[in-house]
Amino acid sequence: MNLVFFGPPGAGKGTQAQKIVAAHSIPQISTGEILRAAVANNTPLGQQAGPLMAAGKLVPDELVIGIVEDRLRQPDCEKGFLLDGFPRTIPQAQALEGVLAKMARKIEHVVSLEVPDEVIHERMKGRGRADDSPETVQKRLDEFRKLTAPLKAYYQERGLLRPINGVGSLDEIAAAIERAIRA
Ligand code: AMP
Repeated sequence: MNLVFFGPPGAGKGTQAQKIVAAHSIPQISTGEILRAAVANNTPLGQQAGPLMAAGKLVPDELVIGIVEDRLRQPDCEKGFLLDGFPRTIPQAQALEGVLAKMARKIEHVVSLEVPDEVIHERMKGRGRADDSPETVQKRLDEFRKLTAPLKAYYQERGLLRPINGVGSLDEIAAAIERAIRA
């Protein structure tokens, strides 16, 4: 099963992604996690990405596309994968399509967690990560609206979008996702 998890920051992508990968024994590929590890290890990638992440901005497409391409070629992705936080721009989605086509594979479902703005703001307040100051939260939401939200139409047109109500208990949301990806 080849999945993409899509939604605004604070929608609960990471949490729901963990449940789905555990249930389906596929790897979770989180570009945010990979980038945070690179920052923590002070690698060249981390040095480039760190200041942008701290400012709530997206890192350049080429950087994340390279990370994801390398990761998708690892043997544990052969039976499927869940992309969490990628693609976040139309060029990233196009690059992903190209990378997968070379491997004779494609995305099957784009799970879109739908959460109203007020709920996002409430949730983000409680998270307390270094990149979660109110200004950074706002910047990340702005980046989402400007650069990432257009992906909904992109995947809708391709018949891949599975909108899921992201407000409710964790188990209810997980069950709705399971129904959508089994259908
Ligand atoms: P996340 O944990 O997915 O919210 O990602 C944390 C931060 O990493 C984001 O605010 C971006 O700065 C950066 N990042 C993660 N994934 C991407 C991506 N696909 N494209 C660009 N920047 C990304």
